[in-house]
Amino acid sequence: MSFFDYAMKFIGGASTTTVTCPVCGLKSSQSASKIRLKQAMLCPGCKALFIAPRSGS
Ligand SMILES: [Zn+2]
Repeated sequence: MSFFDYAMKFIGGASTTTVTCPVCGLKSSQSASKIRLKQAMLCPGCKALFIAPRSGS
């Protein structure tokens, strides 16, 4: 991982995280900042709005 990648992840601006829709189970890539800010995400499969649980500890 380059320093630039690390910096982008640290800032969280453009990084994405794979989340699983709790309704249909489809995995999709969502903005990591949305997860951090607990903003609702739109599932591309079933169009459900959901808030991803925090990953990790
Ligand atoms: Zn879904």
